[in-house]
Amino acid sequence: MAILDQTACQMRDALRRRDLTAADAAEASLAAIERLDPTVAAFVATDACAVRRRAAEIDARLDAGGPVGLLAGVPVAVKDNMCTADGLPTSCGSRILDGWRAPYNAHVVERLLAADAVIVGKTNMDEFAMGSSTEHSCFGPTHNPWDTATVPGGSSGGSAAAVAARMVPLALGSDTGGSIRQPGSLCGVVGMKPTYGRVSRYGLVAFASSLDQIGPLARTVGDAALLLQAVAGHDARDSTSVNEPVPDYLAVLDEPVAPLRIGVPKEFFTEGLDPEVERLVREAIGVYERLGAKLVEIDLPHATDYAIATYYIVAPSEASSNLARYDGVHYGYRAPEHADMIDMYMRSRSEGFGDEVKRRIMLGTFALSSGYYDAYYKKALRVRRLVRRDFDEAFEKVDCIMGPTSATPAFPLGERLENPLAMYLSDLFTVGANMAAIAGISIPCGFTGAGLPVGLQILTGVFTEDRLLRISRMYERQTDWTSRRPAICEASA
Ligand code: GLN
Repeated sequence: MAILDQTACQMRDALRRRDLTAADAAEASLAAIERLDPTVAAFVATDACAVRRRAAEIDARLDAGGPVGLLAGVPVAVKDNMCTADGLPTSCGSRILDGWRAPYNAHVVERLLAADAVIVGKTNMDEFAMGSSTEHSCFGPTHNPWDTATVPGGSSGGSAAAVAARMVPLALGSDTGGSIRQPGSLCGVVGMKPTYGRVSRYGLVAFASSLDQIGPLARTVGDAALLLQAVAGHDARDSTSVNEPVPDYLAVLDEPVAPLRIGVPKEFFTEGLDPEVERLVREAIGVYERLGAKLVEIDLPHATDYAIATYYIVAPSEASSNLARYDGVHYGYRAPEHADMIDMYMRSRSEGFGDEVKRRIMLGTFALSSGYYDAYYKKALRVRRLVRRDFDEAFEKVDCIMGPTSATPAFPLGERLENPLAMYLSDLFTVGANMAAIAGISIPCGFTGAGLPVGLQILTGVFTEDRLLRISRMYERQTDWTSRRPAICEASA
């Protein structure tokens, strides 16, 4: 089997047996990037020399038979909003971070290094993770490997596309309102948003701090479990990271959850849902039914009707405050011409930020401003509590909730660019989990007639990642979607 057709778990085992070298795995990944990335544009930065050096170092350790980390020699990609201190830039898809080098590694990057992974590069994203298509990037859009005329979803579109196109078996993404699960769905890979607090946000460039969470993108559920295992856990430098023990996700993966009660919210099957997506998602739920699961119709009245409206108050409000630090002085880009200091701030920000980021800063500044704060921000926080209550009540009756991750498969590049509201509605089914801080996943559940992947979203409660992975694995064992490869891989393999 070609190196990159192996799952990360298979690669890891082969590396330990010394049937595969870290150098060969790294070369395969670099060659795939060279071959496919001119078309896909998943990466914004790679450093082949550093990758080769690192792989050789890990091979030496593996050869010596010494103890090695969980991901020894496995190539991994990292979304470009996670700080990397050595060599690679951290630019968040924004011109305003042009030329900036992070002075420290994000917690997750430290964990990847401690696990002896080989970080092959940084992946493209919507600017500051604001978007659902990876078109809002100063580097230009990423293309969906299944159909390069369509978007990969976003904002972690680079990470999802890199995994889907088999350039790397694993990638990290971040999810504030759906940015791991939605691109996972549109690219036909597994994407998981862990519980808020499960993975440290230290060194993740802040978008909306009460919603942001880092998680894995991978081709299989087992691989997602492996990557989560490597990065999950408490970190004192992120005060919202929770000191809960991290279970051994891989050890329990193949234990089915039985009896399984599945909540199916009627609000997730509304008009606007693409009929092919609906059919594939219902068929997937049918697979669980055949395995003995019981379906329960549930209500999430606030989690869909009000979730988007509330999210687009809360997230921009936090963003407007977080993005105040980009002033042309402390980070990256500074406008070359200016009359005085205020003019320099203004020009640097107007030239450095893209339109979507500016729109969010204006929305957030307005929602937080005196006289409007109570009407918008405070009210949004109240509705957020209602969303959370919807989920709490649901999880008293069911073990998980299932529905579509995205109402549509991948849409054509440009289709939603001029219509921000249509773009915002891409997250209709995903934002609720961020508002409620719960764990959620998207797993591949089939392909449309046009050959585009569709994702099944599964949600469980807080700190239930082990159960979420086991439930996902039950379906994966019954199906064969993860073995399909995009045509661009076939043509050039
Ligand atoms: N698409 C949503 C937004 O634009 C979510 C993005 C994310 O999860 N980072 O805000």
